Amino acid sequence: MTSVARLRAPLERLYRDFDWTGRIEKDAIRFPLRYADPADREVAALLAAGLAYGRVDLFAPWVDWALRRMGEAPHRFVLGFDPAKDADRFDGFRYRFNRPRDLAAFCLAAQRVLLRYGSLRQCFLAGYSETDPDVGPALERFVGAFRSQDLRPIFPRGRASRGYRHLFPLPSRGGPCKRLHLFLRWMVRREPPDFGLWREIPPAKLLIPVDTHVENMSRAVGLTRRRSRTWRMAVEITERLRRLDPSDPVKYDFALCHKRMSGDCRDRRDPAVCAPCGLRPVCRHWSRA
Ligand code: SF4
Repeated sequence: MTSVARLRAPLERLYRDFDWTGRIEKDAIRFPLRYADPADREVAALLAAGLAYGRVDLFAPWVDWALRRMGEAPHRFVLGFDPAKDADRFDGFRYRFNRPRDLAAFCLAAQRVLLRYGSLRQCFLAGYSETDPDVGPALERFVGAFRSQDLRPIFPRGRASRGYRHLFPLPSRGGPCKRLHLFLRWMVRREPPDFGLWREIPPAKLLIPVDTHVENMSRAVGLTRRRSRTWRMAVEITERLRRLDPSDPVKYDFALCHKRMSGDCRDRRDPAVCAPCGLRPVCRHWSRA
């Protein structure tokens, strides 16, 4: 893998120079950004992140659709959610694994979590310990709070749908949990474009949300050699980034992801596309150049 000393300057430059404002409309973060009230932002962010799988141009219209059905204040909508009266608001929702009842279950579970803890932040903090090495143990408990709700008004047989469980993957299953780490990045990081709403959690404890773009970029510059996208890969990449910036290791995530997503990197040697790329000195596609 590429040494930390060689990675430092190219990655710092990428982070510093990346025009994130120009990419915000292509990112799921634009949905929670619509809401000024932190309580609305939390709820909208959790739903938007949960549905942020597949191509952004495919999931974004459905996130927009779902949030519009929840009105101007998603937090208020969730608190007042009545499955008997409100579940059919989501009729017609159809995005890959998810169906209307998954959204209704999300609202009912979020309502119960909010009534018990007061906010999503307080729910997360209830499972958080300063001695944990990262957010993993707290995330397991946070997901458990949503998975353990009695959702029989939505799922009469007592077993949650696959689509609902897909919104809340358990870290202990070993997957990368990209969407949950994305949600945490939005909530915890203090620098734009993230919101810095959960001040009790140090950004140092975050893990990078590894999607296909971050995976490709991380392999290209030698942050990982792992072949499969797992929790371990997220930990490995973050540990390397933590050596570059111990207090804010996932600050590179947005730029890494969008560089690949935008087509500014094709994950192969392309003289025209690669010419202006500052990562070229550490890129494996140019290592023999
Ligand atoms: S040099 Fe080319 S392949 Fe390598 S990271 Fe940059 S754009 Fe991607």
